[in-house]
Amino acid sequence: MITDIHAHAAGDYSTVDSIKNMAAKYDLEKIVLCTSPKNIQNLQTPPSMPFKQKPDSIYLMNRMNRLAYKHFLKDNGDGNQYVFELRKQLPELVVQFLWVNPLDVGHMDNMENSIRTYQARGIKLHQAWNPFKIDGIEFKNLVDIATSNQLPIFIHVYSKKEVLKLLRFIRENPNAVFIIGHLTGTDLFSESGVNLENIYFDTSSSKRIQGDDIKRAIDTFGYEHIVFGTDTPYASIDEQIDRIERLNMSDNIKEHIYSLNARNILALDK
Ligand SMILES: [Zn+2]
Repeated sequence: MITDIHAHAAGDYSTVDSIKNMAAKYDLEKIVLCTSPKNIQNLQTPPSMPFKQKPDSIYLMNRMNRLAYKHFLKDNGDGNQYVFELRKQLPELVVQFLWVNPLDVGHMDNMENSIRTYQARGIKLHQAWNPFKIDGIEFKNLVDIATSNQLPIFIHVYSKKEVLKLLRFIRENPNAVFIIGHLTGTDLFSESGVNLENIYFDTSSSKRIQGDDIKRAIDTFGYEHIVFGTDTPYASIDEQIDRIERLNMSDNIKEHIYSLNARNILALDK
C-alpha cells in the first residue's frame, strides 16, 4: 500500500472518480491532497527542459514558475473548499492539507478557523507561487499556529538562500515538523549540523531526481525521514514508483518510505 504525501487536486486527482481509479490502480491507501495553483484542475504538463536536470535545477524552475504564476489568468474559486468537497466524498482516501499563502492576510486571519472547518491534517506552502520569506514575520506566525495544532508543514522552498534561512529557523524552532518537497537542499541540510529529528524529505519530481539522489538521502538522513510523494499532476506516478523499485531496498525500508513514515507524520494511527 502507498500513501502519496504530495499531490494536487488536478489531473488524475481532480475528481472523485479519477481519484478512485488511481487508488485502485496503484494500491493507494491515502492521498495527501492540496489545491492546485489558483484551483486550476486541468493543468498542462510542464515543458521539458532542454538540459540535463539535477536536484538543484529546482532553483531555476522556481524562478520560471514564479513568473508563470503571475501570468495565470483568474482564480478559479477557493481551492481549499474544492479539496474539502473531494475529501467529504472520499473520507477514507483523501487527507487534506490546507493551502496557505502567508502573505494573504485573509488566509492568515482565518487559519485556525480553516484548520477546524476543513479538518486539515497539515499545511502546504509554496514559495515559488507565493513569494513569502522564511525570515518574515508571516512565516513565523504561520509555523506557530501549525505547531500549536500539531500539524506538519509541507514546504516547497524557493532558493538556496531560503534553504539556509530555513535551517536557521529549524534550529530556533525544533518542535516544528517540516516535509521538504522534492529533496530540495539536501546537501545544505546534511552539512548543517542542525537537529533534523522533525524534518522529512519528499521524493517527488520527474527527471530532476534520480534513484541515486534518493539513495543518498536515505543514507544521509535515515529511511525514516524519506517519504514517497508524486506531485501529481506534475510528474508521472509510474516513473516515480519505478525509481523506488529499482533501488532494491528491503521490504521494511520500502514500507516505511511508501507508507509508514507518512502515517506517522500524519498521526493517522493515533
Ligand atoms: Zn506541490
